[in-house]
Amino acid sequence: MAKFKVVYERNACIGAGACAALLEERWKISDMDGKANLLGGVETKPGVFEYEFTEEELERVLESAEACPVNVIHIYDEEGNKIV
Ligand code: SF4
Repeated sequence: MAKFKVVYERNACIGAGACAALLEERWKISDMDGKANLLGGVETKPGVFEYEFTEEELERVLESAEACPVNVIHIYDEEGNKIV
């Protein structure tokens, strides 16, 4: 099963909310600081969150990443190539 990965640089999020509007089961704006939280994500470095997913989710996750106005949502394929 193909595995993709979201790498999210939370510190640089400006809280625009585009990601959460498109994919609410994965992105939720925090009541604390107004930045997006990656639901199910794991913090791998301070402020950097990752989440692995399969091809079934790819189209919608891609859409939410591409909508981010400050490009802080990155997507990699299973070979580590950057898609977004
Ligand atoms: S679209 Fe980008 S800037 Fe806006 S809330 Fe999501 S991650 Fe943050």
